[in-house]
Amino acid sequence: MRLGWTEADETFRAELVAFLDARVPAEATVRPGFGYEPDAGIPAWARRWQALLFDRGWMVPGYPPELGGRNATPSQTMVYLEELSRRGVPRSLHFGGYAIVGPSLLEFGSDEQKELVPAAIRGDTIWCVGMSEPGAGSDLAGLSTRAERHGDVYVVNGQKVWTTYAAFADRCFLYVRTDPTVAKHKGISALIVDMATPGIEVRPLRHLTGGADFAEVFFTDCEVPAANLVGAENDGWRITTGSLAHERGGLWVEGVGRAQVAVEELCALARRRGLDGDPGVRRRLARAHQRVASLKALGYQGFAAFAGGGAASEHSYLKLASSELGKELYELGMALQGPWGAVIDPDIDDGGRWPYSFFVSFASTIAGGTSQIQRNIIAQRVLGLPRS
Ligand SMILES: Cc1cc2nc3c(=O)[nH]c(=O)nc-3n(C[C@H](O)[C@H](O)[C@H](O)COP(=O)(O)OP(=O)(O)OC[C@H]3O[C@@H](n4cnc5c(N)ncnc54)[C@H](O)[C@@H]3O)c2cc1C
Repeated sequence: MRLGWTEADETFRAELVAFLDARVPAEATVRPGFGYEPDAGIPAWARRWQALLFDRGWMVPGYPPELGGRNATPSQTMVYLEELSRRGVPRSLHFGGYAIVGPSLLEFGSDEQKELVPAAIRGDTIWCVGMSEPGAGSDLAGLSTRAERHGDVYVVNGQKVWTTYAAFADRCFLYVRTDPTVAKHKGISALIVDMATPGIEVRPLRHLTGGADFAEVFFTDCEVPAANLVGAENDGWRITTGSLAHERGGLWVEGVGRAQVAVEELCALARRRGLDGDPGVRRRLARAHQRVASLKALGYQGFAAFAGGGAASEHSYLKLASSELGKELYELGMALQGPWGAVIDPDIDDGGRWPYSFFVSFASTIAGGTSQIQRNIIAQRVLGLPRS
């Protein structure tokens, strides 16, 4: 087995590194802390950064230039994801548009709807994605927000929850029930909804961290043009899996990369606190390092299968493992800080990075499929265990 990058990959990396060295905005690498959450919208620097990445073909490298890419190969996309995660640089602060809506419209949208894609990827349009409801989260197919066809509009009534960016999004990619009489997966459709449409009320929800970038969204007799239906009526379930297919092989990189950076910072923190000679601390740090290294190896193994056109069952495990590992690492950071471990204050060492990240880490174990659901998927689809 040969582990390494080709010459073309290294040329790609050199060009990327030169671009990042010259152009990454200072704000992109500042560690988030309390008050960082974009309550009031996406900060101007992040919008400029996303637009620059798009214009230079670095936003979604696997796409063609007109969609913010440069037709990069899967290996080059992996190089790209690794370089960004190594530096802790986000390409966007609102992933819904480029990562979910764009690919869904490219695959299922009408020609007119596809014209919305470049602005979604460049970040000129901010999108929210309305899937979860009070009675439908893990069991998404149970959603009950109703859309009834009246002439050339759908009339929408119902409620969404945990809708990230709803308070400042321009549009919503909304999943609705269009036929309540058939099996639940079969009566769902997707609509493009302008958030300025009468009949929409957004009530922000506050996170454990103090920020409020997600919300409850209420629809009351909200009229949506029937032309905004994406794909066929009642065929919305197929769209729920929409994502950047060519990036699937590297989706684990961000979570594992974040854990790797945390381990390096934990080692530095232990040294600053004079704890690097403590056998208990050394053992916990060594274990953390070993876990990150093994997750990385597993990620590469899955990537090799993915790049060869096969299925990468390793990747089902990586989202679960890296998000759960994150919680442990940040908790260790709090322990190493001693009495300051639970304090968030710009004047203390690390300014509260560890408790802040600990709070945020819970979100990664819930959003995009909870850890329990991931375990069910691994048990059933990877290990082939029977359903209970
Ligand atoms: C930061 C963040 C951002 C989000 N952004 C969005 C967004 O933009 N748009 C959107 O639509 N949603 C969003 N969500 C919602 C997210 O998709 C849901 O929270 C998630 O799907 C879980 O659904 P739920 O919260 O209703 O929990 P539930 O499904 O009610 O689950 C509650 C608990 O029961 C467990 N559980 C449920 N079913 C099973 C089962 N079959 N077996 C074992 N355990 C089970 C779960 O693991 C969980 O611990 C976001 C969530 C977070 C945390």
